[in-house]
Amino acid sequence: MSIIMDSITDQNQIFDKIAQWSNNAQNIVVFTGAGMSTESGIPDFRSPEGIWSKYNPMKYGTIEAFLSNSKKVWKFFLDLYKMSKDTRPNLGHQVLVKLERMKHKQNPNASFIVVTQNIDRFHQEAGSSNVIELHGNGKEVICLSCKRIYPFDSIDTRSLPPICPHCSGLLKVNAILFGESLPLKAFQLAKQAVRNSDFLLVLGTSLEVYPASSVIFSAQSKKVIVNLTNTAYDHEFDAVIHTRISEALEKVLLAVERLSI
Ligand SMILES: [Zn+2]
Repeated sequence: MSIIMDSITDQNQIFDKIAQWSNNAQNIVVFTGAGMSTESGIPDFRSPEGIWSKYNPMKYGTIEAFLSNSKKVWKFFLDLYKMSKDTRPNLGHQVLVKLERMKHKQNPNASFIVVTQNIDRFHQEAGSSNVIELHGNGKEVICLSCKRIYPFDSIDTRSLPPICPHCSGLLKVNAILFGESLPLKAFQLAKQAVRNSDFLLVLGTSLEVYPASSVIFSAQSKKVIVNLTNTAYDHEFDAVIHTRISEALEKVLLAVERLSI
């Protein structure tokens, strides 16, 4: 039976419970999706304001489109990068870092791993120390020939598509496109982390993007989801919170601090 919190009833009780699970845990995994970054001003790619309403994903978002017209798709990459340059991690990312530091202070041997579907690098920029990116990231480019990776900023994009300084191969943004497989190593690490976890916090995802649900439900741990709206999987969680992520995380942090005294 899961605890569902839609209103302010019994708030403290619920957050105390979550803080207890967190405090007792040895291996914490936080799994984040698009909702984690909306408070940074990045609309969910799939929402009406999102990037896929401006660019048709079939024409710009697939590996086939990229390989058949890389110059056109590179204009899209540049536009996306330009939009992301002025955005920053938000309060939610920062509170996660505080939770990680508190956990390590309380138990230096505990692990605290963030698994993200986001490509914005905000978790690393905020200071999370162990982040697994399931979909790669948009702040690097990768050479399709020699697989070398470069910071996006370091690449000469005056002539499109840019080519690899090392081998002249075709460069692609280091986030996966539709039709590409997930980075195998990241996927395996994520699955292993979730399987070993004893507390799993899912933030800002409806779990509909592959492979979120298949990764998440291998966990035997206490599971909490924070998402603005219902998801089809709410019944799988021990606690369900429908509110802004930063708001929920601040309450978790307060409760963790309260219980740690
Ligand atoms: Zn190369």
